[in-house]
This record gives sequence, structure tokens and C-alpha cells, in this order.
Amino acid sequence: MIIQLKHNILSEQIAAIKSELDKYKYSSSVVNTQKNSYLVAIGKAEIDIRRIGILPGVADIHRVSDDFKMVSRKWKIEYSEIDFGDKVKISASELAIMAGPCSIESEEQIMKTVEHLKTNNIRFMRGGVFKPRSSPYAFRGAGIEGLKLFSNYCKAAGIKVVTEVMQSSQIEEMYPYVDMFQVGARNSQNYNLLDALGKVDKPILLKRGLSGTVDELLFSAEYIFSGGNEKIALCERGIRTYEKAYRNVLDINAIPYLKDKSHLPVILDPSHAVGIRKYVDNLALAGVIAGADGVIFEMHEQPEIAFSDGQQSLNFDESAKLYKRLRDTFEFRKLL
Ligand code: PEP
Ligand code: MN
Repeated sequence: MIIQLKHNILSEQIAAIKSELDKYKYSSSVVNTQKNSYLVAIGKAEIDIRRIGILPGVADIHRVSDDFKMVSRKWKIEYSEIDFGDKVKISASELAIMAGPCSIESEEQIMKTVEHLKTNNIRFMRGGVFKPRSSPYAFRGAGIEGLKLFSNYCKAAGIKVVTEVMQSSQIEEMYPYVDMFQVGARNSQNYNLLDALGKVDKPILLKRGLSGTVDELLFSAEYIFSGGNEKIALCERGIRTYEKAYRNVLDINAIPYLKDKSHLPVILDPSHAVGIRKYVDNLALAGVIAGADGVIFEMHEQPEIAFSDGQQSLNFDESAKLYKRLRDTFEFRKLL
């Protein structure tokens, strides 16, 4: 059960609601987010919710039968938007397109990528500076100095920075330079990191785990939300299966499922889902038709010499073609 509290509720009133819930053996936790305060109550007994509804300080009550609560659409039917300021949003009215290299490599690379994005009116640039690599000997990222350069060029161009945070101790130093913190697949169930991101007031791009179920993804989102941060986008990025022909398997089912179960926006990453450049574009379009609110894909001026994931990165021309097709497909979806 989710009990939305009035903004001016007194602590004695919260205590009174909790003690009423105790009578029914419901455990309850207060959740304070950027937007509201709630009591999330978990229990099995049948309660006539009017008994709670009449208590002072209660604004609204919803029964939520899903195990995840705050991210469920059983509580909040209308979809959530994420507002980044400067007229940049993740919302139902415009497809969010995020493109950029797997790794930030050099100042020149940043400049050229930003220029390309600006020309094509793309408002988000992705790029890792702290890279989770399977081998410890592979390039592990340009670090905080790389992030500062990345942020400088993006700020000047009105482009939002999307980059991965690997551990909670990095949040503070990264914070001034990041518009959206990405939680990578390998950290999708790092609950300490998720708790810490719950205390951050910037949006989170939460990726599905390498072998994570969609419900595990929703539980991970619940960690961030119940920690206080409502600005979350879910990201389908392919899962491990027995199939070896491509890097991962794009679980297209996840998109309508997540849109049905959760009010949070859903972003598709076709690059890591398939891992093969020539298939990325059509899979991205399939994701849009399936209901994605946005697409994040890897792009490099010269994918052949990229420090990481060049095999799945589009070049600038291929990307420009894809933006147009994505936008056309999104308009077409509105007619369906
Ligand atoms: C990435 O976005 O470059 C990345 C490492 O993604 P994932 O965590 O989905 O593997
Ligand atoms: Mn990558």
C-alpha cells in the first residue's frame, strides 16, 4: 500500500498512521523523494483503507499488489517524465536520442562528436569515462579529467552528459559534470550504489543486468526511488542467453512489459544488445515501435580505431541516417 502524505504533515501524524498500520501487522517505511513524502506499507491483512484515509495528514492511498511499489503503474497510471531543463526531456511527446562513443578518448573526439550532435539537433551525448571492462588490461577510461572536458563541450552546446558511475565514492566528484548517471549492467544490482543514487537529485539511466530479469530491474529502480530519487529511466540492453551468434539477445518483450508495469520511461540500447554494427539501426527502430521512449547507441567518428566497442559503433553518417529514421518511426508510431 502506498500512502501519499500531505506536504505539511506533522511527525505525530506520521506516528499515528504507523501505529494504525501496526495494528494490522503492516511494516511501514517513510519515503521522501524530490517531489513528495509517502509511507510504503507492506502486509497481508485485509484493511478497509478508509480507516487510514481518514487519518490527518493523508493525501491519497493506493493499494499496489506488485512486489515493487513506487515504480509500479498500479499506483501511478500516468507515465513519468524526466525534465533536464533547457527544453530537454524524456517524455511521451518526443523520442529521446542519446548517442556517443563507448569511451571518451580525447578532446578532439569530444569536439567532433559534439559538433555532429549539434548539427543533428541531438540533445544527449553518451560516453564512458569510468569503464567496466571484462579484462583489467583493456582501456579503463579517461577518468575525471576526461569527464570535465566532456562536460565543458557539452555545456557550451546545450547537450546533456550521460555517463556511467561505477561506485558510490565517485558520485561527488562526478556530480558537477553529469546530467544523467548511468548504472551499468554489471552494477544493476549493486544495492549500495543504488541507495547512494537515491540521494542524488539528478536523473539515473538504470541498465538491466547481464542476466537480470525485468522484475529484478524494477526492484533495482525501487531502491533508487525509495531512496528519494524519482528521476529514473529503465534501460533494456540485451541479456545473456545460450545464443552465441551475437553479443547479447535484445529482449524486445521487455519494452512493452516495462511500459505496462511501470510508469518510468524506457530507453533501448541496441548497441550492447546485439554487438554488431550493421544490425543496430533496425533493432533501434524495432524498439521504437515496441514503445521505447528513447534510444541510446554507440557512435564513433572512426569505429575501426575506437578504444572500446568499435565493432558495434555507428559512424557519423550512419548515425545521421538513423536519427532521421528514428524520428520518422516515432511519428509513425503515434499514428498506430
Ligand atoms: C556502456 O554503456 O558502454 C556499457 C558498458 O554498457 P553495459 O553496462 O550495458 O554493458
Ligand atoms: Mn560500450
